[in-house]
Order: sequence, then structure tokens, then C-alpha cells
Amino acid sequence: MITTACPICNEDLRNHHKEKREKCLWRFTREARNPVVYASRSKLICPTCGEEMLDHNSNQTQECVNQYILDVEDLES
Ligand SMILES: [Zn+2]
Ligand SMILES: [Zn+2]
Repeated sequence: MITTACPICNEDLRNHHKEKREKCLWRFTREARNPVVYASRSKLICPTCGEEMLDHNSNQTQECVNQYILDVEDLES
């Protein structure tokens, strides 16, 4: 089970409207897959494993991002 604090805006994902959740999820997947590009702006902590996205190799990134998307979808049901 993931933490339900949004990695983008730090609010509880369960308090997001559907639109906001999709926006945050989209931003997270984009930034998680390009941590070097976005790292200068802010640290991105992986909501799946709790490590910095910069410390992930590309396989780990893929796994964590996919897992996170599944978990967020689970929250909606
Ligand atoms: Zn958010
Ligand atoms: Zn991770």
C-alpha cells in the first residue's frame, strides 16, 4: 500500500478531485521518468518505495511508476 500523500502537491490524494488527481499523476509520471531534467526544481520522492527518484535506475523507475499508477487507480474504487 502506498502513502496517500501526493508526491507533487503533498496533499492527501483522497482529497483530490478526479481532475486534480489526473493532473498530479501526469506530472509525477513525467517528472519521475526525467528526474535529471526536473531535479533542479525540487526533489521528487518516490511514493512507491520512498527513495528519491534520482536514485532509481530506469528499470526501477519503470516499476515504481507503473505500480504507483495502479495504486492510485485503486484509490478510486
Ligand atoms: Zn496532488
Ligand atoms: Zn521507487
